[in-house]
Amino acid sequence: MAILVYIENTDGTLKKSAFEAASYAKAIADQLGDTVTALSIGNVKTAELEKLGNYGVSKVLNANQDNLKNFVNKAYASIVAAAAKEENAKVVVLSNSFSGKGLAPRIAAKLDAGLADGAISLPNINGDQMEIKKTAFSNKAFATEVISSANKVIAVNPNAYEVNAVGGTAQVIDFTPTIDAGDFSVMVKDIVRATDKVTLPEAEIVVSAGRGLKGPENWAMIEELAEVLGAATACSKPVSDAGWRPHSEHVGQTGIVVSPNLYIAIGISGAIQHLAGVSSSKTIVVINKDPEAPFFKVADYGIVGDAFEIVPKLTQAIKNLKN
Ligand code: FAD
Repeated sequence: MAILVYIENTDGTLKKSAFEAASYAKAIADQLGDTVTALSIGNVKTAELEKLGNYGVSKVLNANQDNLKNFVNKAYASIVAAAAKEENAKVVVLSNSFSGKGLAPRIAAKLDAGLADGAISLPNINGDQMEIKKTAFSNKAFATEVISSANKVIAVNPNAYEVNAVGGTAQVIDFTPTIDAGDFSVMVKDIVRATDKVTLPEAEIVVSAGRGLKGPENWAMIEELAEVLGAATACSKPVSDAGWRPHSEHVGQTGIVVSPNLYIAIGISGAIQHLAGVSSSKTIVVINKDPEAPFFKVADYGIVGDAFEIVPKLTQAIKNLKN
């Protein structure tokens, strides 16, 4: 049997969450003695899909019809359900991304499956039952959910499960299921991007700032540092609560969870609720004028000093390195 993993792309490039979901599916498949089949919908090149082999996927079903280029919730859910049936997959894994949140309940309804959305760790498997730890109440609490139905759908939170390269190759096969015209009753006409910047959950480098910045007028230096590093910008909760920055930048227990290679925290104290969203970053650099700031305890590199002096110098030094 196979575990089916639905993988997402942006303009033909697989998202980081695709590799996370594939790694998560592979870990479950290993426990069950199953294989992993991935499903890609949209225009993704074969060479890009073959990369999934490195993350434990043995087969990729490629649904790349023209009318599927843009996300269509109902149609995508029908295709995932059709693929699960075709592969006789009892477990479907996907990312609990913005589109995943819409898709997961529809897929579960179509497959008469139990659903765990917001999963943050691998399930404990006990016979036909899976016990899954997940976030609840907009990330304010954790819950443990038990799914005992034969079919199961698990939506994994972005950045909750580490990508795990295991080696291997994936065979890519065209997949053209029949889709009901009714599944296209709501269509995306046009996509207008609000920004060309790196999106926060996918970013490999994040420059984040807190109340130590004093006010929104001081964010130009944060944006400049982010720009020279090709980074996304983030902030602490009080900063977005005060309207200094948009809520979409708020990281932490009640915000977005990030897991970049480099997280630079500027003027952020390092409260436990903030750390809950950033502590799986590979390298953490903290800039804070208070040597006792709790963030230094989890930092790989710490700079004690005034952000208003350090950040412009750091930006200039990086610019010099690039020239
Ligand atoms: P502060 O705690 O005020 O820290 C500012 C820091 O800036 C200080 O360490 C100070 O030394 C430093 N500083 C000041 N001036 C300078 C300077 N010139 N140069 C360098 N450093 C300077 N918070 C989150 O971030 N994310 C969450 O998801 C979140 N969820 C929460 C959920 C709950 C239920 C609760 C109760 C709280 C939550 N919080 C969250 C809030 C959290 O507890 C902290 O209050 C918050 O993270 C503090 O934000 P801050 O570090 O920006 O501000």
